[in-house]
Amino acid sequence: MKLPMIIVHGGAGKWKDERIPVGLEQVEKAATAGFQVLDNGGSALDAAEACTVYMESCGKLNAGLGARANIDGVKELDAMIVDGSSLNFGSVAAITGIRNPVSLARYIMEKTGFSFFAGDNAKRLYEKMIAEGYRTEAEPGVVAQSSDGGAKDTVGCVVVDGQGRIAATSSTGGISKKIPGRVGDSAVMGSGAYANDVCGATATGWGEHIMRVTLSRMIVLYVEEGLDVGLAAKRGMEMFEAKTGSEAGVVVADAKGNYGFSTNAKAMPTVIIQGSIDNMTSFTCQE
Ligand code: ASP
Repeated sequence: MKLPMIIVHGGAGKWKDERIPVGLEQVEKAATAGFQVLDNGGSALDAAEACTVYMESCGKLNAGLGARANIDGVKELDAMIVDGSSLNFGSVAAITGIRNPVSLARYIMEKTGFSFFAGDNAKRLYEKMIAEGYRTEAEPGVVAQSSDGGAKDTVGCVVVDGQGRIAATSSTGGISKKIPGRVGDSAVMGSGAYANDVCGATATGWGEHIMRVTLSRMIVLYVEEGLDVGLAAKRGMEMFEAKTGSEAGVVVADAKGNYGFSTNAKAMPTVIIQGSIDNMTSFTCQE
């Protein structure tokens, strides 16, 4: 049984050898948190949010609490969530002072009638989200992790629930030495993530180059055109490397629960849970 399923990455890049097991452990916990939501009847969106909130809150990955700071020492976060069954998405960019931009991205998608907010005005929406009770806070700026979910470099996941609905996320502090106001691919629909009713993908790596080829959208297109999901991930990375010479990684899943992954970076901690919480595959994807 392939559904429901979740595929999660903890960022592709030049991981120090001693940090790889630490990253992998956190990605395993995040995948478990997301899958528990599915087991409890939650949707792909619920699971993708819970999985990503875990990674934003663990402090060990480049997102949320653990996010890389910009050259001024400030954590400016980008995040996105995509609902493949409706083609809706929510994005937030260059936000400061909060830990869980993925929950705000979902609020933006579901409650505002708009899709993409940046900076201080996104922060105002976060305050509105809390005031309306859409999410509660564990402490100022920190979304309480859902009780049923146990969710309690850039991270992202693709989730397919039992009904074949696909959700994808991306969340990051961005690349090193970024100057204030820089926004990468992780908030840009089709680049850092994409999903429709056929397939979903999420990307990590050098955002400027991921955006040049709209990497996630291209991989989903390959699957729509009939390519096997695993081959589509590899073809996407080959295309990306040939056109940009840069470094990235992707994880992909289709509506039936088939999955793929590929990177040309040193390492990308990757975890898949398919069908049952006992069926976890965990490894470091390498170039
Ligand atoms: N893609 C992210 C960015 O460019 C960085 C990363 O994946 O680590 O902001």
